[in-house]
Amino acid sequence: MLTNSISVNKKGNLTIGNADTVELAERFGTPLYVFDEGDIRKNCREFKNAFDEYYDGNARVLYASKAFSCKEMYRVAHSEGLGVDVVSGGELYTALSVGFPAQMIYFHGNNKTPDELEFALKNNVGRVVVDNIYELKTLNNIAKEMNKRADILLRIKPGIDVHTHEFIKTGQIDCKFGFALENGEAFEAVELALKEDNLNLVGVHCHIGSQIFETEPFKLAANVMIGFAKTVQNKLSAVFSEINFGGGYGIKYLESDDPVSKAASVKALTDAVKEACQTENYPLPTIVIEPGRSIVGASSLTLYKVGAVKTIKDVRTYVSVDGGMGDNPRYALYGADYEIVVANKATLPRDFTATVAGKCCESGDLIQEHTKMQKVEVGDTLAVLATGAYNYSMASNYNRICRPAAVMVNDGQARLIIKRETYEDIIKNDI
Ligand SMILES: *Cc1c(COP(=O)(O)O)cnc(C)c1O
Repeated sequence: MLTNSISVNKKGNLTIGNADTVELAERFGTPLYVFDEGDIRKNCREFKNAFDEYYDGNARVLYASKAFSCKEMYRVAHSEGLGVDVVSGGELYTALSVGFPAQMIYFHGNNKTPDELEFALKNNVGRVVVDNIYELKTLNNIAKEMNKRADILLRIKPGIDVHTHEFIKTGQIDCKFGFALENGEAFEAVELALKEDNLNLVGVHCHIGSQIFETEPFKLAANVMIGFAKTVQNKLSAVFSEINFGGGYGIKYLESDDPVSKAASVKALTDAVKEACQTENYPLPTIVIEPGRSIVGASSLTLYKVGAVKTIKDVRTYVSVDGGMGDNPRYALYGADYEIVVANKATLPRDFTATVAGKCCESGDLIQEHTKMQKVEVGDTLAVLATGAYNYSMASNYNRICRPAAVMVNDGQARLIIKRETYEDIIKNDI
């Protein structure tokens, strides 16, 4: 199977973290998100240990909490010694609500509102990652009013296009995030930030993409960012003590996917940073990374109950489940791939081809098309694998369907971490 955490037990049922998924579906109902805590913690440690080994631990690993944000996930990240990044007041509020140390929180976003900035400063978040000049000025004013000095990073567009096959450095000005390098925008932003009395420029940030399988783009990012840091040092005598390379580490969605290991990714990045610093004669910065998907994505699955099975002769078979784009919009959004297993028939061959459809009133409400699974019947439990990232966090109440519950399993033991929504929840804000 895809990961160490997924297996099949004596009953022939699919397991995750040694918990029987068919029993979980019976006990907690469906649809159900299931997370393997042991596997999530292992992922956190792999990143941290790699920095200890390859960079003397002069690094911060932040969990990019937009991948899966809920109280328990912030508790787990904190207990593993990770920081977090947040991209909204809501994520920040959730993190603070469980006592997450504010100094270990980085605040991102291309359009943080003045209220959000004030909320962040009031709570002394570790870094605000400033996206644009308007934000720079707004933040400085808010900090001045509070008589504070905000520690900031500037978000840079490094001009690395990971979606072309060769990771060419391209003009990537057309992106809503950050300051462009090639037209001098980023340099001007640094000059401005250095002049503002209530801002303390700690360093720079970039995020080059997501679901990246190779190490080359991260090496390129290291060269570009250190090169920029050197220019700033030469011309403005300012040194960045911290460089944040964002997230984007790929995970295995399909059996055929082959991402590089976390340790290999970290080694490639730290090697490139060390080499660039040596070449440029630049002091080694603290490296920050922000993995999201690679912390939670593959350590989880979603369970559904199969309802109607509709075979359209010579066309396809639709297998309808009791969830859909409301709990997993990724196929509808960008044709994302998933492996699907009939959890109560996990030992049987996956030789049946079907399209898995949700229950929303929308033809595009599909989880996967023309995909292999075991021969499926009404009442079966279907498992969609590797749904931990960008599923619950992107879920909606379209058609007023209640969002599913989530459970965390650890060595066979399951506990509820997010309650299933009720009809009462659905109408609670209606007047
Ligand atoms: C989305 C995002 C991440 C996390 O990306 P993953 O692909 O989930 O690792 C990290 N940093 C920033 C700024 C992001 O926008």
